[in-house]
Amino acid sequence: MRGLLIVISGASGTGKGTVCKKILNDLPAVAYSISATTREPRPGETDGREYYFLGRDEFKSWIADGKFLEYAQVYGNFYGTPLNKIEERLNRGEDILLEIDVQGALNVKKKCPEGIFIFLLPPSLDELKRRIEGRGTETPASLERRLKNAVAEIKIGLEYDYVVVNDTIENAAEKIKAILTAERCKVSRNADKFIFEGGF
Ligand code: ADP
Ligand code: 5GP
Repeated sequence: MRGLLIVISGASGTGKGTVCKKILNDLPAVAYSISATTREPRPGETDGREYYFLGRDEFKSWIADGKFLEYAQVYGNFYGTPLNKIEERLNRGEDILLEIDVQGALNVKKKCPEGIFIFLLPPSLDELKRRIEGRGTETPASLERRLKNAVAEIKIGLEYDYVVVNDTIENAAEKIKAILTAERCKVSRNADKFIFEGGF
């Protein structure tokens, strides 16, 4: 079976990174697509693990060289999904997980409509604010900007295939795993299993 292209988005602070980490830990066969970004690394982030951290000029040369499946500007920085042989890897049966913003996801949906688009919601806006504050990575100005943007981002979630509320990490991860199991059972992904040559 061709691999699944799994796309997960949600407002900043919802817990995408945390839930994706759990999924990748629970499902070692799923590969994480490491994005490129021009934002500065956060403490504890390593180049080539969370992101490829690029300078602006380098990012622009990757665009010019056609190295991205999609890219978008988010909170003043560029982020992009490197092509990195995604098509060949899916054809070989590898599942690939993209954790990207809503603009990027809608562009991927145009190019790869067979992708599985999952939108992660926070239990409430108050809880979203608590989580971003609790992460301790934002200045007051960038916190304000992320919260203002959250409602607009969440509206775009209506264009996705699935919605999962990240109440607890375990619940959210279980639901995502159930979605993947159901997707693998779709008739459209299993046409080859319906060939019983010769019959009885
Ligand atoms: P995102 O990748 O969506 O910006 P993160 O994964 O960085 O979000 O999570 C934001 C903060 O919320 C982190 O401090 C994380 O530990 C916390 N968090 C994530 N999921 C949950 C959850 N289900 N319950 C409570 N806190 C959570
Ligand atoms: P952060 O700076 O918090 O890691 O990410 C900010 C936003 O950029 C998040 O919404 C995240 O999903 C998004 N993002 C990360 N990588 C990519 C990417 O490759 N493409 C796009 N379009 N967005 C990305």
